[in-house]
Amino acid sequence: MRVKITLVCTECKQRNYDTVKNKKNDPDRLEMKKYCRFCRKHTLHKESK
Ligand SMILES: [Zn+2]
Repeated sequence: MRVKITLVCTECKQRNYDTVKNKKNDPDRLEMKKYCRFCRKHTLHKESK
């Protein structure tokens, strides 16, 4: 059930984080606020497909 995903900054489109999610808990695309070192601030990161 655990799948690897990549989190992409929605502002600069950098792939900043690799993580795993549980498909059962998160059937939809994940979105979370994380620090982006390219924007040098917290931005919304989304799961890339
Ligand atoms: Zn960014």
